[in-house]
Amino acid sequence: MIDSHAHLDSPRYDEDREALLARALEAGVDTILSIGIGEGPDTMHQALDLARAYTGRPGVPKIYATAGVHPHEARLADETAYGKLDNLLNQPEILACGEIGLDYYYDHSPREEQKAVFSRQMEIAAAHKKPIIIHCRPSDNSTNAWDDTLDMLESQWAPTSLGGILHCFTGEWTHARRAMDLGFLISFAGNITFPKAQPIRDVLAQVPLDRMLIETDAPFLAPVPNRGKRNEPAWVAAVAAKVAEVKSIVPEEAALRTTQNFHNFFGTSVTAENAR
Ligand SMILES: [Zn+2]
Ligand SMILES: [Zn+2]
Repeated sequence: MIDSHAHLDSPRYDEDREALLARALEAGVDTILSIGIGEGPDTMHQALDLARAYTGRPGVPKIYATAGVHPHEARLADETAYGKLDNLLNQPEILACGEIGLDYYYDHSPREEQKAVFSRQMEIAAAHKKPIIIHCRPSDNSTNAWDDTLDMLESQWAPTSLGGILHCFTGEWTHARRAMDLGFLISFAGNITFPKAQPIRDVLAQVPLDRMLIETDAPFLAPVPNRGKRNEPAWVAAVAAKVAEVKSIVPEEAALRTTQNFHNFFGTSVTAENAR
């Protein structure tokens, strides 16, 4: 399995990061994409540092990284941050720019500022020919952030043909459809196991098997039966199991297909390092 979205640099893992990575490999997670948003732009390099620190280390999954400014921290994005992002996207271990996008649920940064920062980061990612990982969360009972995100992707990102990933998908079928038309993959997280998540499972039922990924978004959003606890990559197995149930396939196929989708999209492959 591949956990396509985890915040391995979270301080919540400082005590036991290596043991947690070992547990992930034991559970069958051979690759993790570590999201490089840090605690803000100043620390967006931490995911890359981790990827490098664990390269070639036996007993842990292969770790790739991303870099970007989360919409929550858009108000902190300055020229220094953009320069840093530009430099990070040059590094081969960095597969994508993200997570970037719009969050109108928390509104930690003004919406116009979020849009400007999202747009600027798309420009930088395009210059490096790297795909983008999208975080999108609308206000309650609204699709406002989806509408704005997809409009921006269609006008600004579509011409690049680089595609991306909608992470922790919670939208409607029409949002998934519009993104897939732009070459995006749809990534499902532990919230698909929550009792009230039937609308997300209904979309999952429609997303083709060759267009989906699985993720934990660890340390957040632990799947049932660990809901409420600190999440970790090993528990992506619960996401794979729920995907399998919804798609009426065996969990092994859900794991295999999402792994293939990741490698096909990023041009990565299973290496001797993570094949055990
Ligand atoms: Zn997110
Ligand atoms: Zn995240």
